[in-house]
Amino acid sequence: MPLTFQPSDNIVRLRESATLAVAAKARQLKAAGIPVIDLGAGEPDFDTPAFIRQAAAEAMDAGATRYTNTEGILPLREAIAADANRVQVQGTPVTPAEVVVSNGSKQSLYNACVCCFGPGDEVLIPTPAWTSYFEMVELARATAVPVVGEIGNSLKVSAAQLAAVATPRTKGLMLNSPSNPTGAVYSPDELRDILALAADRGWWVIADEIYQRIAYEAPAASVLELAPTRDNLIVINGVAKAYAMTGWRIGWSIAPAAVSKAMTVFQGHATSNASSVSQQAALAAIARRDEADAEVNRMVAAFRQRRNAVVAALQPFPTVTYVYPSGAFYLYINVAGFRGAVDAGAAFASAVLEEHQVAIVPGSAFGTPDWVRASYATSESIAVEGITRIARCLTGS
Ligand code: PLP
Repeated sequence: MPLTFQPSDNIVRLRESATLAVAAKARQLKAAGIPVIDLGAGEPDFDTPAFIRQAAAEAMDAGATRYTNTEGILPLREAIAADANRVQVQGTPVTPAEVVVSNGSKQSLYNACVCCFGPGDEVLIPTPAWTSYFEMVELARATAVPVVGEIGNSLKVSAAQLAAVATPRTKGLMLNSPSNPTGAVYSPDELRDILALAADRGWWVIADEIYQRIAYEAPAASVLELAPTRDNLIVINGVAKAYAMTGWRIGWSIAPAAVSKAMTVFQGHATSNASSVSQQAALAAIARRDEADAEVNRMVAAFRQRRNAVVAALQPFPTVTYVYPSGAFYLYINVAGFRGAVDAGAAFASAVLEEHQVAIVPGSAFGTPDWVRASYATSESIAVEGITRIARCLTGS
């Protein structure tokens, strides 16, 4: 008898990643010859720096083509630990035993959720939040509890807001600064308050710092330098965004040794080690600091210039409100009330794609349906043209 597929209980509530879905739709239109301005992508448009590509090629020729330890090669974990210890961390310095390298920060986030959360646990998610946090928490069979930030505070949440929704079942929270989708950056004081609350309540803090190096006004603080303790801290980072290495798939976690051990065991059964060649590329990116800094600074300067340009492009449209982006490469725009739709973000994203050929992501993907996200990780002229079309569509001008 032919078997009919019935999704298992594990995935029955799983939704397709909205960001990937928009990218697919935009690709489809482009393939049909329609010139789409794609502001949907969450990936730098730069090439991976040449010295990193070169290091990978050399490592491959030197035989770095076999399985590695599940947790990653020691030189890379040492380099990540040394990099983390450049700031004053609480307690003892980070050791390589606390570092687990994975196939992208996405995998590290998932591993952390599976290892720390389970049935009956509630996990606070400052919202809007990157689309996968909700799904990852649910895949761990825990309950995702969105906590929506105040518009007046760039949609960031405060410790008081988190405390107000916490219950005895609260087991942890997801932090993301600079934020995808808003580009908002938490101040050191805001982070300190949240970290103090979490330490006091015994919550896990999973801090996703993938955009930490992409900040425009002031350096974005790492929780490593602010937390009163590292005992409840799982810091996630990777090479994808800052080093323009999305396709290499290297991320990592810095967590207490027992958590790192559990994450390694879990990863060992799920995927084993991250690509050996990619680990060598990441090693060059982290360990050859001066060369890497020059490249990162160049790319961040370009993102800053585009940020300034897209914000300037909105100036002629004073009724368009958005979160002022101090980091990452996204502009989060309020489209509440658009054509009277219930899901204003989805209605707007669909209208702007069909009527103005601009691909963006509806805010429902991030837990706030009245908003849309536009990425300016593209050339300045394309970003400005796209944002201008968005503003015209929104204001009917
Ligand atoms: N975390 C956030 C907030 C992201 O925006 C992304 C990618 O879009 C990731 C994690 C995943 O990054 P990686 O490519 O390292 O898996």
